[in-house]
Amino acid sequence: MRAIYPGSFDPITLGHLDIIERASKIFSEVYVVVMENKRKKYTFSLNERITMIKECTNHIKNIKIDSFKGLLIDYVKHNNIDVIIRGLRAVTDFEYELQMAMANKEMCSNVDTVFLMTDKKFSFLSSSLVKEVAYFGGDISRWVPKNVEKRLLTLLEESKGGVDI
Ligand code: ADP
Repeated sequence: MRAIYPGSFDPITLGHLDIIERASKIFSEVYVVVMENKRKKYTFSLNERITMIKECTNHIKNIKIDSFKGLLIDYVKHNNIDVIIRGLRAVTDFEYELQMAMANKEMCSNVDTVFLMTDKKFSFLSSSLVKEVAYFGGDISRWVPKNVEKRLLTLLEESKGGVDI
C-alpha cells in the first residue's frame, strides 16, 4: 500500500521522524510531502524544508520526498495513494484532524486517513515550540535531528533575531 504523510515540516522534528519511521514499517511506500500554502507563513523555504527531511531520512529506504502547492486530495488522486497518514498528539489535534479526514473522504471516497499516535516522549512537541525555545536560546537538541538544529541556529544567528517564527 502506498501512503502519504503530508505536512508543513517547518522544520521536521523528531516527532515527525518517529511517525515517518513507523509508517515506513507499515506501508510499502511512504510519500513524505511538504505542503506549501500561499496563505501560510513559513520560517524555512520549501527547498530548505525538503533538504532537512532528506538529510535525516537517508536510513529509510521506502520513502519518497516531494512537495506540493495545491489541494492534498489532488496529489493523492494523481499519485494513486491509498492512505493519508497523520500524527495525533493531544485531543486538541483531534477535532481539526477529524474535519480534514472527513472532508478528504468526501472528496475521494477510496482514500482513508490513518492516525498514528505520537510517541509519548514527543507528545508535546511541535515545530513552533522548537522554534520558540531556540529563539530564546534554549537547548533543542533532544527534539530535532542534528542537521535541523544546526540550520535553525544558523538561521537565528544570521537574522540576528529578525526571523519570523
Ligand atoms: P500541518 O501544517 O499539516 O499540521 P505539521 O508539520 O505541523 O503540518 O504536522 C504534520 C503532521 O505531523 C500532523 O498530522 C501533525 O499532527 C503530526 N505531528 C506533528 N508533530 C508531531 C509529534 N510530535 N508527534 C506525532 N505527530 C506529530
